[in-house]
Amino acid sequence: MRARTENAHKHEMDLKKTKLGRFMNCRVPASKRYQPTEYEHAANCATHGFWILPSLLGGSVLYFLSMDQWHRVAAWLYGSGLTGLFVTSTLFHTAAWKISHLRKVEQRFHMCDRMAIYFFIASSYSPWLMLRELGPWACHMRWLIWVMACIGSMYVFFFHERYKLVELLGYVAMGAVPALVILSMVDRAGVCELAVGGVFYVVGVVFFKSDGLVPFAHAIWHLFVAVGATVHYYAIWRYLYVPGPLLQTSR
Ligand SMILES: [Zn+2]
Repeated sequence: MRARTENAHKHEMDLKKTKLGRFMNCRVPASKRYQPTEYEHAANCATHGFWILPSLLGGSVLYFLSMDQWHRVAAWLYGSGLTGLFVTSTLFHTAAWKISHLRKVEQRFHMCDRMAIYFFIASSYSPWLMLRELGPWACHMRWLIWVMACIGSMYVFFFHERYKLVELLGYVAMGAVPALVILSMVDRAGVCELAVGGVFYVVGVVFFKSDGLVPFAHAIWHLFVAVGATVHYYAIWRYLYVPGPLLQTSR
């Protein structure tokens, strides 16, 4: 009786596996990289490729709304970071899908993808750090954030995929440390939106770590990044660039 129940259970598990098989592969140990299915590869490319054009347009809109040269520089930095993130991510996922046999090339794309995240975080904070009034200590974060992005990129260059937890902690530190400066700003309009965007990134990390447990986990992580970036873009546009009554009521 018991053997029969066990067999039935095994059969049920096998059936589930074949049903999910097309959409998700088996989980791999932390030291190895997960191999997405064809469907997952396509979803990984699409979920970030879709955002390349909107981010280019978004950066340009901020540039044309600029009132002075600092606004223009901030728009350039932010627009480049935003577009750069989606471009490098799409390139890497396309390489991982189509030319994974060229291990070295694929590895280089993966490193660029990881480095772009550091510069993306720095560029997301830049408009706030550059265009808002900051205290005598806090203002040093304007350049410190780029130093942090360079250190992070150098870490990727030398130790790529060697200590995955350190890599993740690097991103979390890069995201959290400038937030303390943002919280010290006198003008706090937009802080709420920044926090909401941040929550999307943090919750998304759960899926980033769920390859092989949740079908399309990496594509879902991409969507969380896209939503977080959209909320942050809205906040930058609304509180730092839109002229007229909207800006005046926020101040
Ligand atoms: Zn990705």
